[in-house]
Amino acid sequence: MAPIKLALVGLGKIARDQHLPAIAGTQGLELSGIASRHASVPNLAHWTTIDDMLASNADIDAVSLCTPPQGRFAQAKAALEAGKHLMLEKPPGATLSEVQALEALAKAKGLTLFATWHSRFASAVEEARALLSNATIRSVTIEWKEDVRHWHPGQEWIWQPGGLGVFDPGINALSIVTRILREKFYLTQSDLFFPENRAAPIAANLDFELTGGATLRAEFDWRQTGPQTWDIRVETDAGQIVLSQGGNVLTVNGTEQAHPSGQKREDREYRSLYGRFMQLMAAGRSDVDLSPLTHVADAFMLGNRHAVETFEDTP
Ligand code: NAP
Repeated sequence: MAPIKLALVGLGKIARDQHLPAIAGTQGLELSGIASRHASVPNLAHWTTIDDMLASNADIDAVSLCTPPQGRFAQAKAALEAGKHLMLEKPPGATLSEVQALEALAKAKGLTLFATWHSRFASAVEEARALLSNATIRSVTIEWKEDVRHWHPGQEWIWQPGGLGVFDPGINALSIVTRILREKFYLTQSDLFFPENRAAPIAANLDFELTGGATLRAEFDWRQTGPQTWDIRVETDAGQIVLSQGGNVLTVNGTEQAHPSGQKREDREYRSLYGRFMQLMAAGRSDVDLSPLTHVADAFMLGNRHAVETFEDTP
């Protein structure tokens, strides 16, 4: 079978760190070109914008967007209107309604739209989901605390409206809990901490209730230096399940679990994303789950706003 010809749009941190190696490692997928305002890859077709790329009539079946969420809608719409299958980095858009519009457009055009949540493919997430499938949940605690200066140096878009601030990593935790918990949950209280000079929060404390009555508490903070924390702790009638390191380590009642294969756990999140994209295209299906972004939207709707110290990239 002929390979799927893919073009990448936006050659920033995640495109270089994860997308390029994952595409190279995906059988049946061929990187055909890059649209980037600032950068190119040797021996690959290059356009400055997605519009130039689409106008060039280059032989491209699918597009992967690695640009910030603000401004991604116009690029996504152009790609779908040009008949390309489409993969979106998380969060899938700057608003819920624009992603719904893209979903409808993809459907009308008979194209695949894949709104990715890379953390759902962390190595222990499906094991946690299986363990929780029959458990009665008593409480859930999320602690997602990292150093923004280390992970997002100089990224201005992340602090602007639509950039989500601390929800940019926090939404990864929400993408995991919406996958592993059988029950739906809904927000009851939200406290958002905005640096006085920024339009997006640097920290957030959220309280949710599960439909069965258990509580879920999420603490997101971008001011943590030293060891970083990406933990989800679930107390159940059968004991405690902890997913740590962003879904890559599973501990049950205090004992770390080996991967079922017996092999060392590997970071295969982005390879899995491209594998899933290939499957969706082959099956003529889309995968668009807006639940993590819906919880973030609720957090802004219900948020008590607190002003905190100004933030600069260089302290
Ligand atoms: P980034 O390093 O700032 O790169 C984004 C790229 O998008 C830029 O290099 C730029 O590429 C292009 N771009 C187009 N319009 C832009 C604008 N108005 N402002 C800034 N860049 C613009 O961001 P990133 O960390 O790769 O994140 C991109 C997306 O991936 C975000 O949705 C983010 O949430 C997601 N993501 C990031 C990470 C991570 O660890 N960084 C992890 C998972 C997911 P050109 O110069 O090539 O046009």
